[in-house]
Amino acid sequence: MSSQEDEDRVARQQAILGLGKSYLSTQNLPDAATPNETTTLLPPAEAPEEEEIHYTRTRGIVWSVLTALFAVSVVILVWFPQIVPDALAPLVGRLPKDPLKAAVQILDRAPVIDGHIDLPILLRSRFANNLTVVDLRGPVIGHVDIPRLKQGKVGGFFWSVYVGCAKPEEEGPDFLTSTWRVRDTLEQIDVAKLAIEQYSDAFQLALGSQDIRDSLANRKIASLLGVEGGHQLGNSLATLRQYYELGVRYVTLTHTCHNAFADSCGMAPGFPPLHNGLSSFGLRLIDEMNRLGVLVDLSHTSDETAKQALQHSKAPVIWSHSSARAVHSVPRNVPDDVLALVGNGRHQTDAVIMINFAPQFVADDGKADIAAVADHVEHIARKTGKKHVGIGSDYDGIDSTPQGLEDVSKYPNLFAELYKRGWTQHELAGLAGANLLRILEGAEQTSRQLKAAGTPPAFDIYDKRTDMGRWLGA
Ligand SMILES: [Zn+2]
Repeated sequence: MSSQEDEDRVARQQAILGLGKSYLSTQNLPDAATPNETTTLLPPAEAPEEEEIHYTRTRGIVWSVLTALFAVSVVILVWFPQIVPDALAPLVGRLPKDPLKAAVQILDRAPVIDGHIDLPILLRSRFANNLTVVDLRGPVIGHVDIPRLKQGKVGGFFWSVYVGCAKPEEEGPDFLTSTWRVRDTLEQIDVAKLAIEQYSDAFQLALGSQDIRDSLANRKIASLLGVEGGHQLGNSLATLRQYYELGVRYVTLTHTCHNAFADSCGMAPGFPPLHNGLSSFGLRLIDEMNRLGVLVDLSHTSDETAKQALQHSKAPVIWSHSSARAVHSVPRNVPDDVLALVGNGRHQTDAVIMINFAPQFVADDGKADIAAVADHVEHIARKTGKKHVGIGSDYDGIDSTPQGLEDVSKYPNLFAELYKRGWTQHELAGLAGANLLRILEGAEQTSRQLKAAGTPPAFDIYDKRTDMGRWLGA
């Protein structure tokens, strides 16, 4: 073998090694011991070309295999995402199979906005509204404190600034004497706002839908105010306007008593009506609420009040804490003929019915549990559509709770139950808060339109009042 051939051989070996170890094969290398090495050794000029062909072919095979694997993965992820284990589920955009884990993940992105929590009345009855003797960082007696709110994936709630109905004998037949209820309501607005301010790392006062969005973006609990009963207005539309100025964004037309504006459903069947629904002053109250952008809340009202209010209101309405009468027949729950008036069709009004957890409204004694509450949600959703249902637990306003929904940390259990029943991520986000947000935005839009049209404030005075002068004309 010539020295030239030796050099060529070394150069060729180096060229092959340069392509990578996997391509190194002694079969293709000339053997120094082979007798007719000149015939087995390829001409130096042709050697790289053949290796290139081999390399290209191998690369083609590898790419084909990878492409096939990729295509199979895509098919699996699109048609059979459930076969991916829960730990990898977020990577493929799939929810965990475990319903509770799925619920928590959904609520992480779309937290609960509860329509009715009675923390302020607990602060009044247990702590005389003194925020130095209670620490909301917990644990606090009752159903609500900050750690449990966070655990329960709460992104917002209406703080009910409620005080009870006066006794009929104290109130008088025309509701004229219980004006201290306005003072008491101011005290409840005060304690709620002071608590929101004191724990500003957790709460953020919300005066509208944009504030709720900002609050969620800040990872704070949006804190809205709701007055639970027309009896808290002192028969005065001016009081309503001032409550609005203080931040109140819903008024329940009645509590368990009738008032100057509307009939209540009471607590037991057969509660005799007073106005057969709304009084003429009640119609004006709704007009003024529509103009201001205060939500009309129909929980606690009689069926007739609810029907008339749905017909009269120019804005979408809410039930801040009511369940379904067809599932459990008590006056506080909403009957099917009223649910039929909720929606976006002709003779319907957009609304959200936020499910109450009070065991006596959910099921027979001892039977209130997660499944029973879910039955109420599903009944209302079947009658009105899933866009019209929400959560209004009544926590801190109820003596006992359904099994599995013991306090504000337990909301995910209800969402897990509905997830098991086939509710989608989108539908559960609506139930959690998006449906309420839509209704609030609708009421804000109506308010803007009425103000833009130059609608004046309602100056109506309750006709039973004798303490104000009467305008006699110019
Ligand atoms: Zn209530």
